[in-house]
Amino acid sequence: MAWLTGYPRENIDWFPTIDPEKCVKCGMCMNCGRNVYEWTEDGPIVARPYECVVGCTTCANLCLGNAITFPDIQYVREIYKKDGIWAKVKRQLEKNGRLNAGG
Ligand code: SF4
Ligand code: SF4
Repeated sequence: MAWLTGYPRENIDWFPTIDPEKCVKCGMCMNCGRNVYEWTEDGPIVARPYECVVGCTTCANLCLGNAITFPDIQYVREIYKKDGIWAKVKRQLEKNGRLNAGG
């Protein structure tokens, strides 16, 4: 995956949370390209949270019930800095030939 290549995705708690009280069962969230949601007879559930792209909020923006929330983006910024994620991602990108050494 392009985002966070070389860093364990599970270390970042970024994924949607659904408020079932607000969900109007419009199905918008089911269009997520990462297959994060599953439809049940009670509506959507977050079945594969760590498939969610870190920083993406598309489903929340589209949700007709305003039922989807995410952590504060500041949380991601802090962990990115604290764990030196860019250095790890950079190494992996170099390995994959997607970044010029020293770039
Ligand atoms: S934020 Fe993006 S990747 Fe994550 S579940 Fe929503 S649409 Fe899918
Ligand atoms: S997009 Fe929002 S309101 Fe629509 S089904 Fe998903 S969680 Fe429910």
